[in-house]
Amino acid sequence: MAGVIRRLDETVVNRIAAGEVIQRPANAVKELIENCLDAKSSSIQVTVKDGGLKTLQIQDNGTGIRKEDMEIVCERFTTSKLQTFEDLSAIATYGFRGEALASISHVAHVTITTKTADAKCAHRANFSDGKMKGPLKQCAGNQGTQILVEDLFYNVSTRRKALKSPGDEHSRIVEVVSRYAIHNSGKSFCVKKHGQTVADVRTLPNASIVDNIRVVFGNAVSRELIEVCCEDQKLAYKMKGYISNANYSMKKCILILFINHRLVESSALKKAIEAAYTAYLPKNSHPFLYLSLEIAPQNVDVNVHPTKHEVHFLHEDSIIESVQKHIESKLLGTNSSRTYFTQTLLPGLSISGGTEVKSSSATADSTERVYAHQMVRTDCRAQKLDAFLRPKEKPSPDPEAAGPSCKEATNKTPQPDSVEWDETGDADMLEALDQQEAEGPQGEEEESSVGTFDAQRKRPRKEQQLEEEEDPDLTAAATPKRRAIKLNSIKELREEITENTHKGLQEMLQSHSFVGCVNPQWTLIQHHTKLYLLNTTKLSQELFYQILIYDFGNYGVLRLSTPAPLYDLAMLALDSEDSGWTEEDGPKEGLAQYIVDFLKKNAEMLQDYFSMEIDQEGNLRGLPLLLDKYTPVMEGLPMFILRLATEVNWDNEKECFRDFSKECSMFYSIRKQYILEPEPGEEQDEEASSWRWKVEHIIFKAFRTLFSPPKKFSEDGTVLQIANLPDLYKVFERC
Ligand code: ADP
Ligand code: MG
Repeated sequence: MAGVIRRLDETVVNRIAAGEVIQRPANAVKELIENCLDAKSSSIQVTVKDGGLKTLQIQDNGTGIRKEDMEIVCERFTTSKLQTFEDLSAIATYGFRGEALASISHVAHVTITTKTADAKCAHRANFSDGKMKGPLKQCAGNQGTQILVEDLFYNVSTRRKALKSPGDEHSRIVEVVSRYAIHNSGKSFCVKKHGQTVADVRTLPNASIVDNIRVVFGNAVSRELIEVCCEDQKLAYKMKGYISNANYSMKKCILILFINHRLVESSALKKAIEAAYTAYLPKNSHPFLYLSLEIAPQNVDVNVHPTKHEVHFLHEDSIIESVQKHIESKLLGTNSSRTYFTQTLLPGLSISGGTEVKSSSATADSTERVYAHQMVRTDCRAQKLDAFLRPKEKPSPDPEAAGPSCKEATNKTPQPDSVEWDETGDADMLEALDQQEAEGPQGEEEESSVGTFDAQRKRPRKEQQLEEEEDPDLTAAATPKRRAIKLNSIKELREEITENTHKGLQEMLQSHSFVGCVNPQWTLIQHHTKLYLLNTTKLSQELFYQILIYDFGNYGVLRLSTPAPLYDLAMLALDSEDSGWTEEDGPKEGLAQYIVDFLKKNAEMLQDYFSMEIDQEGNLRGLPLLLDKYTPVMEGLPMFILRLATEVNWDNEKECFRDFSKECSMFYSIRKQYILEPEPGEEQDEEASSWRWKVEHIIFKAFRTLFSPPKKFSEDGTVLQIANLPDLYKVFERC
């Protein structure tokens, strides 16, 4: 039997239509937020009860609705935004073309309270089934509009039953509000549960897009974002946004896509983007992206049904390909392991020297999960056995340097006018040292090794001469007694060092794990999950410079077993090409004699301040002991002597101390040209490799405690990040 066809009641038709448009509370929220934005609001607050099924309230501070429009505001196809069909293509982004409020009023009780700028007071009315119910009432209120939606789907029981979990609906609402908040940075958004004071998401009016991403998705992603921006006139589109780099990944791809300022989805675009990331991310991990596309409105299909978030547009394939290419180029440009040879700026270590060091484990929130490839498997406090197996000292050429066993404390009387003994225990300098030590890393290692750097630094100067055989431990154990240095010049030089410290680099050097020496000039270290290449020459020179300035007037002496005639040293230097000597400078002999006389004249000062001993006969007898167990390579001595006479400004106190320390630190630094590597195939003997031991166990050990790397090292190529281990892990995993 055939059924009878009847015309459906109009309200039923509207209800069915509305139920199709507004499928869940989050859809309503999206439409209502867009209305707020259309009304030029700068602050939008959403309050939700029971996942929006009980109440949903949206308050804005926009233009408001005119009193005379209130009557029809909830009727279908009423809008203030569009008049002719031609407008339609230009205004394609504005959603439902007068359908949103009408639809909502067919499936919920709607109350609108609104005030325009020129109205004397606010007005309020209730609506249902597209019609205003009861009279328009006057009431108090600020400029803007408040829309209250109650008992959503009260008259559509099937829909109500389908939405079982208010918690789930609430999260969807928070998601929609958050995404609009990110896209509309500069406006403040807030979404919270009814009756709660703490918001689920709140953004500030002056926040940037990245600030808002941080608020919503956390620090971990916000600090790994790359800005993207591209435009194509032919395809008539523009794109802007932020995408996560290769250091970051998540379990599911998040693509926040706005097209013409409307939150949409495009599975085709998502697929293309994921394909671009496969080369950079480990398997089963995905990127985060926020993209805002502006496409010529006439190219966007306006007839897509309102519930379909999935969009289509003209030239879709070409635009997607263009976006994909741009993203690929951005990812390529930031993959650190690919920029090895061209890079001189250290990523993650800002030049400002702020405390912000980028590293996944150092700054990561404690709640953040650490994945296998982000784990740091080294412990910088671990002591290697070879630290105790010190290679024999390489026999120094004439003049022969003494080994550490013959280091001595001097007993020279100080000059009373400028340098004073401080018998009481020495305030100013130890204070500076103690402070630095306190700031140093915890868990000072190597308790067992004799004569640590610290002990050496505090070693008293005014001690009895120690016998050569004496255990150096005794030296270290002696009560520290230092001369207090009250010279302004030295104080200023110390301040220069402290003020110029790069805190990020300092932290890195304090807690690094030593990997190995590439050659005398370059060393590899690991810090957290990153591998760095360090210029040992520059770093060690700066280290010795700082020791010279901080320990000024307090070094021990490295006594030469055979005194070295300064004249011979000066002649050796003048004979070498590096001296730049020409005939015009006059005969070498005369110059050499001048150098000897000059240094002899300053011998007393050199000895007192710098522990550089020169005897009456013009022989060099001792050099400053700057680091325990460390002797400079004596090939550098002749040039050091020459440069002392030619490169140091002896007339100005501060300049003199600075210049001397610069020259001396250059002499002491680890330098490639003085250390001959064995030819390939040749047996590497212990002596030839002793510099490796020095670099690892003396120089780099000293970096852990009392070194203040200057800011310029982060940008002049002294410290280079050459690999990020998680990136390598990705490469291996793909193999
Ligand atoms: P549309 O946004 O497509 O015009 P709506 O049904 O969403 O259709 O809204 C109908 C009309 O109600 C809008 O054109 C606008 O004039 C007015 N309106 C809705 N919400 C607001 C608001 N928050 N502030 C000011 N006017 C609003
Ligand atoms: Mg609207």
